[in-house]
Amino acid sequence: MSSDALTSAGTCMFDDAVMAAKLPAAVVQRFNECLISGDPTTEEDQKVIADTLFDWARERGAIDFAHWFFPLRGGGGAVGGMLGAFKRDTLMDLEFGSKFVTKPMKACLPHERLFQGETDGSSFPNGGLRVTHSAAAFTTWDRSSPPFVMDSCLYIPCAFITHFGKCIDEKTPLLRSMDAVKTHGLRLLKAIGIGKDVQTIYSYLGWEQEFFVLKADHFKARPDLVNCGRTLFGKLPTRHQQGDLNYFQAIPGKVQELLDVAQAEMLKIGCPMAVKHNEVAPGQHEMSPVFRAANVSCDSNVCFMEVMNREAAKLGLQVLFHEKPFAGINGSGKHANWSIGTDTNLNFFYPGKNEDGAKLYVTAIACLAYGLAQYNEMVRCTVASAGNDHRLGAQEAPPAIISLYPGQGFDQFVDSVVNGGDLLGYKAEKKKQETGCSSAMHIEANVEDRNRTAPFPFCGNRFEFRAVGSSQNCCFPVMVCNAIMSAGMSHMASLIEGGMSHRDAVAQVFKENKHVIFTGNGYSAEWPVEAGKRGLPNLNTTPKAVATWNSEKNRKLFETLKIFTAEETEARQEVMYENYISCLCCEVETMVQMTETGFLPACAKDLEKYKGVEKLTGSRKTIYDNVVDQLEKLKAVYQAKPHTSLAEEATYLCDTVKTQMAALRAAVDKAESVMENSLYPFPTYEQMIYSH
Ligand code: ADP
Ligand code: MG
Repeated sequence: MSSDALTSAGTCMFDDAVMAAKLPAAVVQRFNECLISGDPTTEEDQKVIADTLFDWARERGAIDFAHWFFPLRGGGGAVGGMLGAFKRDTLMDLEFGSKFVTKPMKACLPHERLFQGETDGSSFPNGGLRVTHSAAAFTTWDRSSPPFVMDSCLYIPCAFITHFGKCIDEKTPLLRSMDAVKTHGLRLLKAIGIGKDVQTIYSYLGWEQEFFVLKADHFKARPDLVNCGRTLFGKLPTRHQQGDLNYFQAIPGKVQELLDVAQAEMLKIGCPMAVKHNEVAPGQHEMSPVFRAANVSCDSNVCFMEVMNREAAKLGLQVLFHEKPFAGINGSGKHANWSIGTDTNLNFFYPGKNEDGAKLYVTAIACLAYGLAQYNEMVRCTVASAGNDHRLGAQEAPPAIISLYPGQGFDQFVDSVVNGGDLLGYKAEKKKQETGCSSAMHIEANVEDRNRTAPFPFCGNRFEFRAVGSSQNCCFPVMVCNAIMSAGMSHMASLIEGGMSHRDAVAQVFKENKHVIFTGNGYSAEWPVEAGKRGLPNLNTTPKAVATWNSEKNRKLFETLKIFTAEETEARQEVMYENYISCLCCEVETMVQMTETGFLPACAKDLEKYKGVEKLTGSRKTIYDNVVDQLEKLKAVYQAKPHTSLAEEATYLCDTVKTQMAALRAAVDKAESVMENSLYPFPTYEQMIYSH
């Protein structure tokens, strides 16, 4: 990235500053008031905003505009990541009143097309929220996420709902959950008498995106990568991630070029990328931006995946956003750093420099503990997908058990509060640690250590939901973080409003929910046993997790918080199942195809070489025969798949078919280890992960 890119920061984003500079002050003020009150923008103001946005976009080379939204596609696992949807409309419209023959069109952005769009929604998943012959669906601008110009198109981030107002996207529930955080956060602040000048409350997100970068040619030559986003076969090279040598090493030149371009593109649309580095596995990297309001940050994450896909193609590269592209080495996650804060800069998750801050912090952690304990399965569901099943609990990512890590010191403090201690008893002081040498100064260690084995560790001023999968849209997990936090804040406020003292309310909430707090090693064999004793669920597969989603408890909470109607809750479950099933089916069919058209012919050719020199054949024949046996078994179990219900189909694929997929893979990988090099029909692991 040239250093000039820094001066072009945000030049293609229609943000607060641009609005303030280009629009009449009264329009901006009314627009911002509507964001807080939820009132519609008046038609008059809509016109002024649309005209101004049009001129601004034209100056930046836009010829099209697009309502950009995130259809309800469930879980994750899509090749290239869970991307946005849009259709490009030209910035032209009929010129009414003019002579149609000579000048039928004029360049413009009609206000009604900026604020609302109507489209045929029939080919988007809806989980039963629409019947086949009721196709209309509407997009409506998420006014709190700025439009931006990219690739000669004005992008307008949108919510997406049906003709009957049911949400069939990822964004709408997130926005509703942000409203819930505001409502219940304000209630809580009032109840505890803190932040009297606070007008609104936001939730924030800073994502860390992990991914692999391959040569595009390698990607295209592997049907499993093209169809499923992950390798279904392949033997790990002798050298892989031993010694963690790749972590933080210099980024290879070609990849650096890609990351630089992506960084510059993201900066233009107002998203400064803060960090880029090599990750643990060879071929694996990470980038993350500076955190922002949760919805804007979710938008920028999808945008980032889109930019990476596009720019990689130009460089002959391919980015893999799948959670587990390669077996045996680390998969990819998308840590969601999440926090709650006020318009007056009070951060609920910052231990605080003064008494109010400290009290708010302790109260907020109690609310979070409540949310995680009471709605544990709900949180687990948000990271459940076929792709993430390969990661969670595999000693590289947090376990499938959802627990809270607020720090060891805080854990002890919780006990003291439960036993009657004061809310101000937590000493949030940084610790000085000497280096033991004179040239390098002492360090100021954070209040609490990090715990990378925890799904929800405290990180100084935020919590990091580490279980999110790399291909996912962050909206769903962050929406549920907001929902459970709102549940906790509402519960706490109710206790205090009902007459309990602030201290006693916090103590009671901790007492009833402290079983969700765990500060030990989440990768250890003891933890699942201990978690079981504490009554924490261990939903270690997607079908197990998804089965818990549509519970009475969940439906009730979502309804109370005005995030989902009962129907909308149920629809999510259906879409999660469908996503899982279609993903697994695609994998099985690709495995069969690769074995029949690639591996078996290669095995046959290899055996021919040994005619007349049988002694050299070794155990090849047995090994290759086993490939056939395992293939036939896979076909048989797959054919026996039940069609009774989505739940049964998903469970069968998970418990029976997946086991046989693993057996076929093991057979083929064994064959790879004895087959003549040049006969292996696809790029090998070694070629792919060491291609730069
Ligand atoms: P790590 O050290 O965990 O790898 P990184 O620096 O890669 O962390 O990323 C941390 C992310 O957390 C960044 O996106 C950063 O902007 C974000 N972040 C920092 N403070 C907050 C906060 N209060 N709320 C939400 N996200 C935050
Ligand atoms: Mg982190």
